[in-house]
Amino acid sequence: MTERLYHADAFLRSFRARVTAHAEHGGRSSVVLAATGFYPEAGGQMADRGSLGGVAVIDVQADDAGVIHHVLDGAAPPVGAEVDAAIDWARRRVHMALHTGQHLLSRALIEAATAETVSARLGETGCTIDVARDPVPERELAAAEALANSVIDDDVAVRAWFPEPAELAGLPLRREPKVASEVRVVAIGDFDVSPCGGTHCARSAQIGSIRVLGAERYKGLTRIHFTAGARARGLLGEHSETLARLARELTCSTADVPGAIDKLRRALSDSRADAAAVRDQLAAALADTLVAGSTGAEVIATLPDAALLRPLAARLSAAGKDVLLAVATPEGTQVLLSRTAGSSLDCGALLRRLAQATGGRGGGKAEHAEGRLPAAIDWPAAVAAARA
Ligand SMILES: [Zn+2]
Repeated sequence: MTERLYHADAFLRSFRARVTAHAEHGGRSSVVLAATGFYPEAGGQMADRGSLGGVAVIDVQADDAGVIHHVLDGAAPPVGAEVDAAIDWARRRVHMALHTGQHLLSRALIEAATAETVSARLGETGCTIDVARDPVPERELAAAEALANSVIDDDVAVRAWFPEPAELAGLPLRREPKVASEVRVVAIGDFDVSPCGGTHCARSAQIGSIRVLGAERYKGLTRIHFTAGARARGLLGEHSETLARLARELTCSTADVPGAIDKLRRALSDSRADAAAVRDQLAAALADTLVAGSTGAEVIATLPDAALLRPLAARLSAAGKDVLLAVATPEGTQVLLSRTAGSSLDCGALLRRLAQATGGRGGGKAEHAEGRLPAAIDWPAAVAAARA
């Protein structure tokens, strides 16, 4: 079993390491030390990174016997060697804030939202807590966040120790320990007491702040997304920059951004209604012109805009005409065939012949058919050829 230096000092950034063995873990070569300050992936907290004898440590894992394996990106120092070891401190410090923040938020969720933690995950990009309540009202989530941040502001001491069984029995643990003996306990002031083998801040203020980012229903539970510490600062900074950029684009203050977006939405909706009205007027005028210029039972025409196809077809059908319309679009020639009441034109059959002859596609019923033919076809000539 490897001695875990981070149990006594979670702020140990570098140490002298003695290599006791070369081993293997999960199919990868590993280095075993007499004692290590590297935290192995466990309990939802990510593994440390860093360097060992100048070689990068890319993963740290514990096996069932309690031996900690350091996976290196390069040649391992020889067995018996004493080398310098350094932990990637920026990464670990973020993990400590997120992990201690999770303890704090889990307790706050019980106090302010009657929501017991079922499991928690701290990831490279996001952190979540699953709680046994569905749903958790938003105001109670906000109350839990506020309560957790008030304990951060109070700057209470965080203590981690191995209590004797008699003391352990009397502690108000938030959850049952996962191990039967050598139970390590972490207390955040008298706010929360939990069994945990992880690395924690020494005082609650070192968490910095906690931010609940959202919640979603998940398999009968509620999954709460949160962030803390330097990662929370980074994220809130990004959000602030995005909001400032939007305010510049909209030439308003950041507080007025939602109102400015509402105004834009209304303007867009008005413009769409205006465009639809203009299209209707255009369709009416075009229909009149086409009916006036047509002596037969049908109208074959090429239009300037695909949005005109259906309104124009409806007007021409109502005027007693079979309709064969085409529009050139960037994707090809969009066509619409529609027959008037009492006509015997089979639109679907004609379009299938057109598609076959030109290499396009489309189909439909006898009354109405739509499809897409290749670009740059001569529409009246193609119709005539398909009928021949
Ligand atoms: Zn912990």
